[in-house]
Amino acid sequence: MRIESIAVHAGAEPDAQTGAMAPPLYLATTFRHGPAGERIGGYEYSREDNPTQTRLEAALTALEGGAAALAFASGMAATDALLSALPDGHVLIPLDVYQGLRTLAREFLANRLDVEAVDMTDVKAVASAIKPTTKCVWLETPSNPLLQISDIAAIVEIAHHAGAIVAVDNTFATPCLQQPLALGADVVMHSTTKYFGGHSDVLGGALVFATKSDLHEEIAHARHVRGAILSPFNAWLTLRGCRSMPARVAWHCRNARAVAEFLASHQRVERVNWPGLESHPNHAIAKKQMHDFGGMMSVQIKGGREATLAVAGKVNLFANATSLGGCESLIEHRASVEGANPVSPQNLLRISVGLEHPDDLIADLANALK
Ligand code: PLP
Repeated sequence: MRIESIAVHAGAEPDAQTGAMAPPLYLATTFRHGPAGERIGGYEYSREDNPTQTRLEAALTALEGGAAALAFASGMAATDALLSALPDGHVLIPLDVYQGLRTLAREFLANRLDVEAVDMTDVKAVASAIKPTTKCVWLETPSNPLLQISDIAAIVEIAHHAGAIVAVDNTFATPCLQQPLALGADVVMHSTTKYFGGHSDVLGGALVFATKSDLHEEIAHARHVRGAILSPFNAWLTLRGCRSMPARVAWHCRNARAVAEFLASHQRVERVNWPGLESHPNHAIAKKQMHDFGGMMSVQIKGGREATLAVAGKVNLFANATSLGGCESLIEHRASVEGANPVSPQNLLRISVGLEHPDDLIADLANALK
């Protein structure tokens, strides 16, 4: 089946008892069991699992073409769960990556993981950075906020040869545009807060595993004990989002192309980072491993920080806000929100292109760039 059909039906089968066509929401935290703890309906306590979470996990598994999935309270909870389950050793992460990963590695994992940033657009650089102690290569492609692209299949080959697993943050692409497990990756991570939820109203995260391995078992056990599971209501909202995700993502891509082409032709723009543009340095790899190029981009404005902030200050339809993947278009000066050590260029604005009409988005940007 194609992904559009999987998205509508996976985890969303009519309720067996009532025939309800919309998935039921089980808010129950506890489930009746026998006198010696025997499970009656398959569930015991919602910190371990819950029927609504199970439905979402079935949808996540089917959408990514995996063998199992685990839903978490946020993307960062999912990331933390995976990295915490790795044996002590070396981990490679991209130079350009969601800043939360860098903070997690520096502040919470440094005592047991030697986390090294490498240019993941350069396969040779990845090959030379791999060590005998490398446990995991973490990819984020497209990356946040520079929209750099890594060659997933090529890096998988290098990592597997060295005995390391490959995890891919697939948040920007979604499984509608890119399926890392089919390219050999071991685990996919999502901030489902973004395109899965799709309406900027539900936090969540997920890990999807290529096989039902010991790693999956270990992380499921850790989630049960440590309690970072997604709530049933958030699972229900995210499952609702899954069903329309391919249709929304197609529209995000269409709008993004119009916005990127407009920005690329504007005299005040120094550079547009969107992998769908032929001028993008990794366009060929993006074309090879993605079906389309997504709704995320960043733009670098001529004239430095002040000129860039002036553009961000003049938009009306776009909102200055963090996050991405919702119906509404967002813009953000990343360097201003990256804390004490900003790494994004001072002239960069990250853009999450929403579902408005592209003419209106372009008119708003044209006015802000006047
Ligand atoms: N990965 C990427 C690419 C992100 O953009 C984000 C959040 O912005 C995360 C992970 C973290 O997800 P969450 O905010 O759901 O914890």
